[in-house]
Amino acid sequence: MADTKYIFVTGGVISSLGKGLTAAALGTLLEHRGLKVVLQKFDPYLNVDPGTMNPFQHGEVYVLDDGAETDLDLGHYERFTNVQLTRLNNLTSGQVYQTVLENERKGVYLGKTVQVIPHVTEEIQKRIYLMAEQSKADVVITEIGGTTGDIEGLPFLEAIREFALDVGTNNAMFIHVTYVPFIKAAGELKTKPTQQSVAKLREIGITPHVLVCRCEKPLDKELRAKISMFCNVPLEAVIEEKDVDHSIYEVPLMLQRERMDEIVCRHLGLNTPQADMSQWREIIRTLIAPSHRVRIGVVGKYIGLQDAYKSVYEALIHGGIANDCGVEIVRIEAQEIERHGAEKMLSGLGGILVPGGFGERGIEGKIRAAQFAREKRIPYLGLCLGMQIAVIEFARNVLKLERAHSTEFEPRSPHPVICLQEEQKLVTKKGGTMRLGRQPAQLLMGTLAAKLYGAFVIQERHRHRYEFNNKYRKSFEEAGMVFSGTTPDGKLIELIEIPDHPFFIASQFHPEFQSKPHRPHPLFRGFIAAAHLAMHQKPL
Ligand code: GLN
Repeated sequence: MADTKYIFVTGGVISSLGKGLTAAALGTLLEHRGLKVVLQKFDPYLNVDPGTMNPFQHGEVYVLDDGAETDLDLGHYERFTNVQLTRLNNLTSGQVYQTVLENERKGVYLGKTVQVIPHVTEEIQKRIYLMAEQSKADVVITEIGGTTGDIEGLPFLEAIREFALDVGTNNAMFIHVTYVPFIKAAGELKTKPTQQSVAKLREIGITPHVLVCRCEKPLDKELRAKISMFCNVPLEAVIEEKDVDHSIYEVPLMLQRERMDEIVCRHLGLNTPQADMSQWREIIRTLIAPSHRVRIGVVGKYIGLQDAYKSVYEALIHGGIANDCGVEIVRIEAQEIERHGAEKMLSGLGGILVPGGFGERGIEGKIRAAQFAREKRIPYLGLCLGMQIAVIEFARNVLKLERAHSTEFEPRSPHPVICLQEEQKLVTKKGGTMRLGRQPAQLLMGTLAAKLYGAFVIQERHRHRYEFNNKYRKSFEEAGMVFSGTTPDGKLIELIEIPDHPFFIASQFHPEFQSKPHRPHPLFRGFIAAAHLAMHQKPL
Protein backbone atom coordinates (compact mmCIF):
# COMPACT_ATOMS: atom_id res chain seq x y z
CA MET A 1 0.00 0.00 0.00
CA ALA A 2 1.46 3.29 -1.08
CA ASP A 3 1.01 5.39 2.03
CA THR A 4 0.88 2.76 4.75
CA LYS A 5 3.28 3.31 7.62
CA TYR A 6 5.01 0.50 9.44
CA ILE A 7 6.11 0.26 13.05
CA PHE A 8 8.21 -2.64 14.29
CA VAL A 9 8.41 -3.42 17.97
CA THR A 10 11.32 -5.50 19.22
CA GLY A 11 12.37 -6.46 22.72
CA GLY A 12 15.68 -6.51 24.49
CA VAL A 13 17.43 -7.79 27.61
CA ILE A 14 14.75 -10.14 28.94
CA SER A 15 11.41 -11.58 27.95
CA SER A 16 8.09 -10.71 29.63
CA LEU A 17 8.74 -6.98 29.38
CA GLY A 18 5.28 -6.29 28.11
CA LYS A 19 6.17 -5.63 24.47
CA GLY A 20 2.70 -6.69 23.48
CA LEU A 21 1.17 -4.26 25.93
CA THR A 22 3.39 -1.46 24.69
CA ALA A 23 2.47 -2.18 21.09
CA ALA A 24 -1.22 -2.36 22.01
CA ALA A 25 -1.04 0.87 24.02
CA LEU A 26 0.60 2.65 21.11
CA GLY A 27 -2.26 1.31 19.01
CA THR A 28 -4.73 2.88 21.44
CA LEU A 29 -3.06 6.26 21.15
CA LEU A 30 -2.86 6.16 17.36
CA GLU A 31 -6.52 5.16 17.10
CA HIS A 32 -7.42 8.07 19.35
CA ARG A 33 -5.59 10.28 16.88
CA GLY A 34 -8.01 9.11 14.24
CA LEU A 35 -5.74 6.64 12.50
CA LYS A 36 -6.72 3.18 11.33
CA VAL A 37 -4.34 0.78 12.98
CA VAL A 38 -3.68 -2.92 12.69
CA LEU A 39 -1.42 -5.01 14.91
CA GLN A 40 0.27 -8.30 14.21
CA LYS A 41 2.61 -10.57 16.11
CA PHE A 42 5.51 -12.58 14.73
CA ASP A 43 6.53 -15.50 16.93
CA PRO A 44 9.90 -17.08 16.22
CA TYR A 45 9.09 -20.53 17.62
CA LEU A 46 8.53 -23.54 15.37
CA ASN A 47 5.06 -24.50 16.55
CA VAL A 48 2.64 -23.72 13.74
CA ASP A 49 0.40 -22.06 16.31
CA PRO A 50 0.40 -21.96 20.11
CA GLY A 51 -2.75 -24.14 20.23
CA THR A 52 -0.70 -27.23 20.95
CA MET A 53 1.37 -25.62 23.71
CA ASN A 54 0.94 -26.19 27.41
CA PRO A 55 -0.05 -23.09 29.40
CA PHE A 56 3.13 -23.56 31.45
CA GLN A 57 5.03 -22.95 28.23
CA HIS A 58 2.97 -20.27 26.78
CA GLY A 59 0.22 -18.87 28.99
CA GLU A 60 -3.22 -18.52 27.50
CA VAL A 61 -4.11 -19.47 23.95
CA TYR A 62 -6.15 -16.59 22.60
CA VAL A 63 -8.87 -17.50 20.10
CA LEU A 64 -9.98 -15.18 17.30
CA ASP A 65 -13.30 -14.94 15.47
CA ASP A 66 -12.00 -17.05 12.61
CA GLY A 67 -10.93 -19.79 15.01
CA ALA A 68 -7.21 -19.05 14.91
CA GLU A 69 -5.45 -20.12 18.10
CA THR A 70 -2.99 -17.35 18.74
CA ASP A 71 -0.54 -15.74 21.10
CA LEU A 72 -2.01 -13.96 24.09
CA ASP A 73 -0.59 -10.64 22.91
CA LEU A 74 -3.37 -10.64 20.33
CA GLY A 75 -5.70 -10.43 23.31
CA HIS A 76 -4.01 -7.19 24.33
CA TYR A 77 -4.36 -5.91 20.79
CA GLU A 78 -8.10 -6.57 20.74
CA ARG A 79 -8.69 -5.20 24.23
CA PHE A 80 -6.76 -1.98 23.68
CA THR A 81 -7.99 -1.16 20.20
CA ASN A 82 -10.84 -1.77 17.81
CA VAL A 83 -8.80 -3.85 15.37
CA GLN A 84 -10.36 -6.87 13.69
CA LEU A 85 -7.86 -9.69 13.95
CA THR A 86 -7.69 -12.88 11.91
CA ARG A 87 -5.24 -15.73 11.61
CA LEU A 88 -3.13 -13.49 9.39
CA ASN A 89 -2.24 -11.37 12.42
CA ASN A 90 -0.10 -14.04 14.08
CA LEU A 91 2.78 -15.50 12.13
CA THR A 92 5.12 -18.14 13.56
CA SER A 93 8.38 -19.56 12.25
CA GLY A 94 6.48 -22.83 12.03
CA GLN A 95 4.06 -21.32 9.50
CA VAL A 96 6.84 -19.65 7.54
CA TYR A 97 8.84 -22.84 7.23
CA GLN A 98 5.74 -24.87 6.45
CA THR A 99 5.02 -22.56 3.50
CA VAL A 100 8.61 -22.45 2.31
CA LEU A 101 8.91 -26.24 2.45
CA GLU A 102 5.59 -26.74 0.67
CA ASN A 103 6.75 -24.31 -2.02
CA GLU A 104 10.02 -26.15 -2.36
CA ARG A 105 8.17 -29.44 -2.87
CA LYS A 106 5.94 -27.81 -5.49
CA GLY A 107 8.99 -26.60 -7.35
CA VAL A 108 8.16 -22.95 -6.86
CA TYR A 109 11.82 -22.01 -6.41
CA LEU A 110 12.78 -23.27 -9.86
CA GLY A 111 15.82 -25.26 -8.89
CA LYS A 112 17.38 -22.63 -6.66
CA THR A 113 19.00 -23.43 -3.31
CA VAL A 114 16.34 -22.57 -0.76
CA GLN A 115 17.80 -20.37 1.97
CA VAL A 116 16.86 -18.34 5.03
CA ILE A 117 17.83 -15.22 3.11
CA PRO A 118 16.02 -14.56 0.77
CA HIS A 119 13.34 -17.26 0.85
CA VAL A 120 12.39 -17.30 4.51
CA THR A 121 12.78 -13.53 4.88
CA GLU A 122 10.66 -12.91 1.77
CA GLU A 123 7.90 -15.06 3.17
CA ILE A 124 7.94 -12.94 6.33
CA GLN A 125 7.87 -9.70 4.33
CA LYS A 126 4.97 -10.93 2.23
CA ARG A 127 2.94 -11.21 5.40
CA ILE A 128 3.60 -7.57 6.31
CA TYR A 129 2.50 -6.38 2.86
CA LEU A 130 -0.51 -8.65 2.95
CA MET A 131 -1.53 -7.23 6.30
CA ALA A 132 -1.29 -3.69 4.93
CA GLU A 133 -3.27 -4.60 1.85
CA GLN A 134 -6.04 -6.49 3.59
CA SER A 135 -6.51 -4.15 6.52
CA LYS A 136 -6.19 -0.90 4.55
CA ALA A 137 -4.74 0.48 7.77
CA ASP A 138 -2.81 3.73 8.00
CA VAL A 139 -0.36 2.10 10.36
CA VAL A 140 0.70 -1.54 10.64
CA ILE A 141 2.31 -2.33 13.99
CA THR A 142 4.31 -5.55 13.95
CA GLU A 143 5.63 -6.99 17.17
CA ILE A 144 8.51 -9.44 16.99
CA GLY A 145 8.33 -12.03 19.77
CA GLY A 146 11.34 -13.13 21.78
CA THR A 147 14.41 -11.15 22.73
CA THR A 148 17.06 -9.59 20.52
CA GLY A 149 19.95 -11.99 20.36
CA ASP A 150 17.81 -15.12 20.14
CA ILE A 151 19.03 -17.27 17.27
CA GLU A 152 15.52 -18.10 16.09
CA GLY A 153 14.55 -14.42 15.94
CA LEU A 154 17.28 -13.51 13.44
CA PRO A 155 15.37 -14.18 10.20
CA PHE A 156 12.57 -11.91 11.43
CA LEU A 157 14.96 -9.07 12.28
CA GLU A 158 16.70 -9.43 8.94
CA ALA A 159 13.33 -9.43 7.22
CA ILE A 160 12.17 -6.20 8.86
CA ARG A 161 15.52 -4.52 8.28
CA GLU A 162 15.22 -5.17 4.54
CA PHE A 163 11.55 -4.26 4.63
CA ALA A 164 12.25 -0.83 6.12
CA LEU A 165 14.80 -0.22 3.39
CA ASP A 166 12.21 -1.20 0.83
CA VAL A 167 9.47 1.14 1.99
CA GLY A 168 11.79 4.01 2.87
CA THR A 169 12.95 5.37 6.20
CA ASN A 170 10.07 7.81 6.62
CA ASN A 171 7.56 5.05 6.23
CA ALA A 172 9.00 2.62 8.75
CA MET A 173 10.08 2.91 12.32
CA PHE A 174 11.75 0.69 14.90
CA ILE A 175 10.74 0.76 18.53
CA HIS A 176 12.83 -1.23 20.95
CA VAL A 177 11.36 -2.16 24.32
CA THR A 178 14.15 -2.66 26.79
CA TYR A 179 14.78 -3.11 30.48
CA VAL A 180 16.57 -0.77 32.84
CA PRO A 181 16.97 -2.80 36.04
CA PHE A 182 17.12 -1.29 39.50
CA ILE A 183 20.02 -2.79 41.42
CA LYS A 184 19.15 -2.67 45.09
CA ALA A 185 22.68 -2.99 46.44
CA ALA A 186 23.81 -0.02 44.37
CA GLY A 187 20.52 1.84 44.78
CA GLU A 188 20.66 2.65 41.06
CA LEU A 189 19.06 2.00 37.72
CA LYS A 190 21.53 0.43 35.32
CA THR A 191 21.67 1.19 31.62
CA LYS A 192 24.30 -1.32 30.45
CA PRO A 193 21.91 -4.13 29.46
CA THR A 194 20.01 -1.63 27.31
CA GLN A 195 23.20 -0.41 25.68
CA GLN A 196 24.19 -3.96 24.88
CA SER A 197 20.85 -4.96 23.52
CA VAL A 198 20.77 -1.92 21.24
CA ALA A 199 24.33 -2.72 20.15
CA LYS A 200 23.09 -6.19 19.21
CA LEU A 201 20.32 -4.66 17.10
CA ARG A 202 22.71 -2.28 15.40
CA GLU A 203 24.98 -5.22 14.58
CA ILE A 204 22.08 -6.61 12.58
CA GLY A 205 21.62 -3.24 10.91
CA ILE A 206 18.66 -1.91 12.84
CA THR A 207 18.93 1.38 14.69
CA PRO A 208 15.91 1.95 16.90
CA HIS A 209 14.15 5.28 16.57
CA VAL A 210 12.49 5.00 19.96
CA LEU A 211 13.60 3.20 23.10
CA VAL A 212 10.89 2.27 25.56
CA CYS A 213 12.62 1.70 28.86
CA ARG A 214 10.79 -0.58 31.25
CA CYS A 215 11.81 0.27 34.79
CA GLU A 216 10.67 0.06 38.39
CA LYS A 217 11.88 3.57 39.31
CA PRO A 218 11.63 6.82 37.36
CA LEU A 219 14.25 7.38 34.72
CA ASP A 220 15.91 10.73 35.53
CA LYS A 221 17.26 13.17 33.01
CA GLU A 222 20.85 12.10 33.41
CA LEU A 223 20.08 8.48 32.74
CA ARG A 224 18.00 9.36 29.73
CA ALA A 225 20.89 11.42 28.38
CA LYS A 226 23.27 8.53 28.94
CA ILE A 227 20.99 6.05 27.18
CA SER A 228 20.44 8.52 24.37
CA MET A 229 24.14 8.99 23.79
CA PHE A 230 25.27 5.38 24.07
CA CYS A 231 22.36 4.03 22.05
CA ASN A 232 22.30 6.74 19.40
CA VAL A 233 18.65 7.58 20.00
CA PRO A 234 17.41 11.19 20.34
CA LEU A 235 16.88 12.22 23.96
CA GLU A 236 13.16 12.82 23.59
CA ALA A 237 12.78 9.32 22.13
CA VAL A 238 14.09 7.67 25.28
CA ILE A 239 10.75 6.85 26.81
CA GLU A 240 10.13 5.83 30.37
CA GLU A 241 7.61 3.03 30.91
CA LYS A 242 7.47 2.44 34.63
CA ASP A 243 5.66 -0.51 36.18
CA VAL A 244 2.02 0.50 36.42
CA ASP A 245 0.59 1.25 39.86
CA HIS A 246 -2.93 0.00 39.35
CA SER A 247 -3.74 -1.34 35.94
CA ILE A 248 -2.28 -2.17 32.56
CA TYR A 249 -4.82 0.21 31.05
CA GLU A 250 -2.70 3.07 32.39
CA VAL A 251 0.01 2.30 29.83
CA PRO A 252 -1.47 4.37 26.96
CA LEU A 253 -1.71 7.37 29.29
CA MET A 254 1.89 6.86 30.45
CA LEU A 255 3.14 6.72 26.88
CA GLN A 256 1.13 9.79 25.98
CA ARG A 257 2.72 11.71 28.87
CA GLU A 258 6.08 10.75 27.37
CA ARG A 259 4.84 12.04 23.98
CA MET A 260 5.48 8.73 22.30
CA ASP A 261 2.55 9.05 19.90
CA GLU A 262 3.73 12.52 18.92
CA ILE A 263 7.26 11.28 18.21
CA VAL A 264 5.91 8.38 16.15
CA CYS A 265 3.56 10.57 14.12
CA ARG A 266 6.25 13.14 13.48
CA HIS A 267 8.72 10.50 12.28
CA LEU A 268 6.18 8.88 9.99
CA GLY A 269 4.83 12.18 8.70
CA LEU A 270 1.35 11.49 10.03
CA ASN A 271 -0.39 14.78 10.47
CA THR A 272 -2.98 14.05 13.14
CA PRO A 273 -4.60 15.86 16.08
CA GLN A 274 -3.70 15.11 19.70
CA ALA A 275 -5.37 12.03 21.12
CA ASP A 276 -8.35 12.84 23.30
CA MET A 277 -8.03 10.27 26.07
CA SER A 278 -10.74 11.62 28.39
CA GLN A 279 -12.94 8.53 28.14
CA TRP A 280 -9.97 6.28 28.71
CA ARG A 281 -9.03 8.39 31.73
CA GLU A 282 -12.51 7.83 33.13
CA ILE A 283 -11.93 4.06 32.91
CA ILE A 284 -8.69 4.45 34.85
CA ARG A 285 -10.45 6.54 37.47
CA THR A 286 -12.90 3.68 38.07
CA LEU A 287 -10.03 1.24 38.31
CA ILE A 288 -8.08 3.34 40.78
CA ALA A 289 -10.91 4.52 43.01
CA PRO A 290 -14.00 2.39 42.48
CA SER A 291 -17.11 3.12 44.53
CA HIS A 292 -17.62 -0.59 45.35
CA ARG A 293 -15.53 -3.69 45.83
CA VAL A 294 -16.10 -7.37 45.28
CA ARG A 295 -14.07 -10.57 45.75
CA ILE A 296 -14.17 -13.23 43.04
CA GLY A 297 -12.63 -16.70 43.28
CA VAL A 298 -11.21 -18.18 40.09
CA VAL A 299 -10.82 -21.94 40.47
CA GLY A 300 -8.32 -23.30 37.99
CA LYS A 301 -5.41 -25.55 37.42
CA TYR A 302 -2.72 -23.10 36.33
CA ILE A 303 -3.39 -20.63 39.08
CA GLY A 304 0.27 -19.98 39.85
CA LEU A 305 0.82 -18.74 36.31
CA GLN A 306 0.23 -15.09 35.73
CA ASP A 307 -0.82 -15.54 32.11
CA ALA A 308 -2.80 -18.78 31.94
CA TYR A 309 -6.22 -17.15 32.41
CA LYS A 310 -5.28 -13.69 31.16
CA SER A 311 -8.47 -12.88 29.27
CA VAL A 312 -10.63 -14.20 32.12
CA TYR A 313 -8.92 -11.94 34.65
CA GLU A 314 -9.19 -8.99 32.29
CA ALA A 315 -12.87 -9.61 31.55
CA LEU A 316 -13.59 -9.72 35.31
CA ILE A 317 -11.93 -6.34 35.66
CA HIS A 318 -14.01 -5.04 32.75
CA GLY A 319 -17.14 -6.34 34.48
CA GLY A 320 -16.00 -4.28 37.45
CA ILE A 321 -15.55 -1.15 35.32
CA ALA A 322 -19.13 -1.52 34.10
CA ASN A 323 -20.32 -1.54 37.72
CA ASP A 324 -17.90 1.03 39.14
CA CYS A 325 -16.62 -1.85 41.22
CA GLY A 326 -13.07 -2.93 42.06
CA VAL A 327 -12.56 -6.66 41.55
CA GLU A 328 -10.22 -8.53 43.86
CA ILE A 329 -9.40 -11.80 42.15
CA VAL A 330 -8.65 -14.70 44.49
CA ARG A 331 -6.82 -17.42 42.59
CA ILE A 332 -7.69 -20.85 43.86
CA GLU A 333 -5.87 -24.01 42.84
CA ALA A 334 -8.58 -26.64 42.23
CA GLN A 335 -6.51 -29.38 43.84
CA GLU A 336 -6.38 -27.36 47.05
CA ILE A 337 -10.16 -27.70 47.26
CA GLU A 338 -9.74 -31.46 46.96
CA ARG A 339 -7.26 -31.32 49.85
CA HIS A 340 -8.84 -28.79 52.20
CA GLY A 341 -12.53 -28.77 51.25
CA ALA A 342 -14.73 -26.18 49.56
CA GLU A 343 -15.85 -24.48 52.76
CA LYS A 344 -12.32 -23.61 53.77
CA MET A 345 -11.16 -22.52 50.32
CA LEU A 346 -14.24 -20.71 49.04
CA SER A 347 -15.85 -18.92 51.97
CA GLY A 348 -16.10 -15.15 51.88
CA LEU A 349 -16.25 -14.85 48.08
CA GLY A 350 -18.83 -12.80 46.22
CA GLY A 351 -18.68 -15.07 43.20
CA ILE A 352 -17.01 -18.21 41.90
CA LEU A 353 -15.72 -18.62 38.36
CA VAL A 354 -14.49 -21.85 36.81
CA PRO A 355 -12.62 -21.13 33.56
CA GLY A 356 -11.79 -23.36 30.61
CA GLY A 357 -9.32 -26.19 30.76
CA PHE A 358 -8.12 -29.57 29.59
CA GLY A 359 -6.97 -32.69 31.39
CA GLU A 360 -7.98 -34.40 34.57
CA ARG A 361 -5.93 -32.68 37.24
CA GLY A 362 -8.09 -30.66 39.62
CA ILE A 363 -11.41 -31.72 38.05
CA GLU A 364 -12.93 -32.99 41.31
CA GLY A 365 -11.96 -29.75 43.05
CA LYS A 366 -13.73 -27.76 40.35
CA ILE A 367 -16.82 -29.94 40.67
CA ARG A 368 -16.87 -29.24 44.40
CA ALA A 369 -16.54 -25.52 43.70
CA ALA A 370 -19.60 -25.63 41.42
CA GLN A 371 -21.52 -27.61 44.05
CA PHE A 372 -20.57 -25.11 46.74
CA ALA A 373 -21.70 -22.19 44.55
CA ARG A 374 -25.00 -23.88 43.71
CA GLU A 375 -25.84 -25.03 47.22
CA LYS A 376 -24.68 -21.90 49.05
CA ARG A 377 -26.35 -19.69 46.46
CA ILE A 378 -23.09 -17.94 45.52
CA PRO A 379 -23.02 -16.43 42.01
CA TYR A 380 -21.33 -18.81 39.57
CA LEU A 381 -19.94 -18.21 36.12
CA GLY A 382 -18.64 -21.24 34.24
CA LEU A 383 -16.66 -20.92 31.03
CA CYS A 384 -16.32 -23.86 28.65
CA LEU A 385 -14.91 -26.55 30.93
CA GLY A 386 -16.58 -24.52 33.70
CA MET A 387 -19.94 -25.25 32.05
CA GLN A 388 -19.15 -28.93 31.65
CA ILE A 389 -18.17 -29.04 35.33
CA ALA A 390 -21.50 -27.48 36.34
CA VAL A 391 -23.33 -30.10 34.27
CA ILE A 392 -21.41 -32.97 35.86
CA GLU A 393 -22.03 -31.58 39.34
CA PHE A 394 -25.75 -31.19 38.67
CA ALA A 395 -25.95 -34.73 37.31
CA ARG A 396 -24.22 -36.23 40.31
CA ASN A 397 -25.78 -34.23 43.12
CA VAL A 398 -29.22 -33.22 41.84
CA LEU A 399 -30.08 -36.02 39.43
CA LYS A 400 -28.20 -38.50 41.63
CA LEU A 401 -26.49 -40.03 38.62
CA GLU A 402 -23.54 -41.59 40.36
CA ARG A 403 -20.20 -41.38 38.56
CA ALA A 404 -21.65 -39.00 35.98
CA HIS A 405 -18.71 -37.53 34.11
CA SER A 406 -17.29 -36.24 30.88
CA THR A 407 -15.83 -38.92 28.65
CA GLU A 408 -12.74 -36.68 28.45
CA PHE A 409 -11.97 -37.75 32.01
CA GLU A 410 -13.80 -41.06 32.37
CA PRO A 411 -14.38 -42.73 29.00
CA ARG A 412 -16.38 -45.54 30.63
CA SER A 413 -18.63 -43.40 32.83
CA PRO A 414 -22.12 -44.96 33.15
CA HIS A 415 -23.52 -41.43 32.71
CA PRO A 416 -21.49 -39.58 30.11
CA VAL A 417 -23.31 -36.24 30.48
CA ILE A 418 -20.52 -34.57 28.53
CA CYS A 419 -19.22 -36.45 25.51
CA LEU A 420 -17.64 -36.11 22.09
CA GLN A 421 -19.63 -35.03 19.08
CA GLU A 422 -19.69 -37.63 16.31
CA GLU A 423 -17.37 -35.67 14.00
CA GLN A 424 -14.81 -35.17 16.79
CA LYS A 425 -14.59 -38.95 17.29
CA LEU A 426 -12.89 -39.21 13.90
CA VAL A 427 -10.25 -36.59 14.66
CA THR A 428 -6.78 -37.90 15.32
CA LYS A 429 -4.60 -34.82 14.82
CA LYS A 430 -4.33 -32.41 17.72
CA GLY A 431 -3.49 -29.04 16.09
CA GLY A 432 -6.43 -26.82 15.11
CA THR A 433 -9.01 -29.60 15.18
CA MET A 434 -11.37 -28.47 17.95
CA ARG A 435 -14.66 -26.64 17.49
CA LEU A 436 -13.08 -23.24 17.09
CA GLY A 437 -13.99 -19.62 16.64
CA ARG A 438 -17.03 -17.45 16.33
CA GLN A 439 -20.39 -19.17 15.98
CA PRO A 440 -23.96 -18.00 16.49
CA ALA A 441 -26.09 -19.07 19.41
CA GLN A 442 -29.77 -18.57 19.96
CA LEU A 443 -31.05 -17.50 23.36
CA LEU A 444 -34.27 -18.53 25.02
CA MET A 445 -36.70 -15.73 25.82
CA GLY A 446 -37.19 -14.84 29.46
CA THR A 447 -33.87 -16.32 30.62
CA LEU A 448 -31.04 -14.67 32.52
CA ALA A 449 -28.90 -14.97 29.40
CA ALA A 450 -31.42 -13.12 27.22
CA LYS A 451 -31.75 -10.45 29.87
CA LEU A 452 -27.99 -9.94 30.19
CA TYR A 453 -27.32 -9.86 26.45
CA GLY A 454 -30.47 -7.94 25.56
CA ALA A 455 -30.54 -10.02 22.36
CA PHE A 456 -31.74 -13.36 21.07
CA VAL A 457 -28.92 -14.19 18.72
CA ILE A 458 -25.34 -13.79 19.87
CA GLN A 459 -21.93 -14.55 18.37
CA GLU A 460 -19.29 -16.04 20.62
CA ARG A 461 -15.90 -17.73 20.28
CA HIS A 462 -15.34 -21.42 20.94
CA ARG A 463 -12.46 -23.75 21.68
CA HIS A 464 -13.54 -27.20 22.76
CA ARG A 465 -14.14 -30.79 21.69
CA TYR A 466 -16.71 -32.07 24.15
CA GLU A 467 -20.41 -31.20 24.33
CA PHE A 468 -23.43 -31.61 26.54
CA ASN A 469 -24.97 -35.03 25.87
CA ASN A 470 -28.50 -34.47 24.56
CA LYS A 471 -29.72 -37.80 25.91
CA TYR A 472 -29.86 -36.16 29.32
CA ARG A 473 -31.55 -32.94 28.26
CA LYS A 474 -35.00 -33.83 29.48
CA SER A 475 -33.99 -35.05 32.91
CA PHE A 476 -31.88 -31.94 33.50
CA GLU A 477 -34.78 -29.71 32.49
CA GLU A 478 -37.18 -31.56 34.74
CA ALA A 479 -34.77 -31.04 37.64
CA GLY A 480 -34.66 -27.27 37.10
CA MET A 481 -31.77 -26.57 34.74
CA VAL A 482 -32.55 -24.26 31.83
CA PHE A 483 -30.73 -24.52 28.53
CA SER A 484 -30.85 -20.85 27.73
CA GLY A 485 -28.62 -20.91 24.67
CA THR A 486 -28.23 -23.40 21.83
CA THR A 487 -26.82 -23.45 18.34
CA PRO A 488 -29.49 -22.09 15.92
CA ASP A 489 -30.39 -25.67 14.91
CA GLY A 490 -31.02 -26.41 18.59
CA LYS A 491 -28.58 -29.30 18.58
CA LEU A 492 -25.70 -28.12 20.75
CA ILE A 493 -26.01 -26.57 24.18
CA GLU A 494 -24.30 -23.19 24.45
CA LEU A 495 -25.57 -21.83 27.77
CA ILE A 496 -27.01 -23.34 30.91
CA GLU A 497 -28.51 -21.64 33.91
CA ILE A 498 -30.34 -22.42 37.14
CA PRO A 499 -33.23 -20.00 37.62
CA ASP A 500 -33.73 -20.92 41.25
CA HIS A 501 -30.43 -19.33 42.20
CA PRO A 502 -29.24 -15.70 42.52
CA PHE A 503 -26.91 -16.09 39.51
CA PHE A 504 -25.82 -19.41 38.06
CA ILE A 505 -24.87 -19.35 34.42
CA ALA A 506 -22.29 -21.13 32.33
CA SER A 507 -21.34 -21.09 28.68
CA GLN A 508 -19.79 -23.63 26.36
CA PHE A 509 -18.08 -20.71 24.62
CA HIS A 510 -15.47 -18.24 25.84
CA PRO A 511 -17.03 -14.82 26.43
CA GLU A 512 -13.77 -13.56 27.92
CA PHE A 513 -12.27 -13.22 24.44
CA GLN A 514 -14.69 -10.50 23.44
CA SER A 515 -14.55 -8.22 26.46
CA LYS A 516 -12.84 -4.82 26.37
CA PRO A 517 -12.39 -2.18 29.07
CA HIS A 518 -14.54 0.16 27.01
CA ARG A 519 -17.02 -2.61 26.10
CA PRO A 520 -17.35 -4.99 29.07
CA HIS A 521 -18.95 -8.32 28.25
CA PRO A 522 -22.57 -8.67 29.44
CA LEU A 523 -21.97 -12.00 31.24
CA PHE A 524 -19.11 -10.50 33.25
CA ARG A 525 -21.02 -7.32 33.90
CA GLY A 526 -23.96 -9.31 35.29
CA PHE A 527 -21.69 -11.63 37.26
CA ILE A 528 -19.94 -8.77 39.06
CA ALA A 529 -23.26 -7.07 39.85
CA ALA A 530 -24.63 -10.33 41.28
CA ALA A 531 -21.43 -10.96 43.24
CA HIS A 532 -21.66 -7.51 44.77
CA LEU A 533 -25.21 -8.17 45.80
CA ALA A 534 -24.21 -11.52 47.32
CA MET A 535 -21.36 -9.97 49.30
CA HIS A 536 -22.99 -6.76 50.46
CA GLN A 537 -26.69 -7.58 50.26
CA LYS A 538 -27.31 -4.46 48.27
CA PRO A 539 -27.60 -3.95 44.53
CA LEU A 540 -25.16 -1.75 42.67
N1 GLN B 1 -11.67 -29.87 27.67
C1 GLN B 1 -12.96 -29.41 27.31
C2 GLN B 1 -13.30 -29.71 25.86
O1 GLN B 1 -12.44 -29.96 25.06
C3 GLN B 1 -13.12 -27.93 27.59
C4 GLN B 1 -12.27 -27.07 26.74
C5 GLN B 1 -12.12 -25.68 27.26
O2 GLN B 1 -12.46 -25.39 28.40
N2 GLN B 1 -11.60 -24.77 26.46
O3 GLN B 1 -14.43 -29.69 25.47
